[in-house]
Amino acid sequence: MTAGWRVGIGYDIHRLVDGRPLILGGIEIDHPQGLLGHSDGDVVLHAVADALLGAAALPDIGDLFPDTDPAYKNADSRELLAEVVRKVAAAGYRPNNIDCIVHAERPKLSEFKDRMARSIAEAVGLEPGAVNVKAKTNEGLGALGSAEGIACTVTASLVLRIDD
Ligand code: MG
Repeated sequence: MTAGWRVGIGYDIHRLVDGRPLILGGIEIDHPQGLLGHSDGDVVLHAVADALLGAAALPDIGDLFPDTDPAYKNADSRELLAEVVRKVAAAGYRPNNIDCIVHAERPKLSEFKDRMARSIAEAVGLEPGAVNVKAKTNEGLGALGSAEGIACTVTASLVLRIDD
């Protein structure tokens, strides 16, 4: 890779079910339902990971952490993300900034945005000001609008590690 900086995009969606904790951006949010998944179901950290991997043109998290591998059952997505940051570093880059949109009809996430952003920043080794989280409802439209699940879209940029 020769470019001094790179941009990537990530997306993830998980179904909301009873009997699971709701974990978004590495923080637990009090809600009657949580996200179904082989790992902890954290759509936000999964989308962040794929944005970082995409920017580095590395294999995606489905390739790196297959949901058929028992090692990742109920895995803490912060640990998966730390491994992603190590792979990005091995490719010669480090995270520069991250911008997230969480698509959730319920629960209302506005009061959690700052905590999620700080948690993501800590997980990838960025200053809090380099991570942004926005929360959007789906205006009642479709499966997301009827709160069947939560999705997340992320863009991330990387810069060369030469100044580390
Ligand atoms: Mg996922």
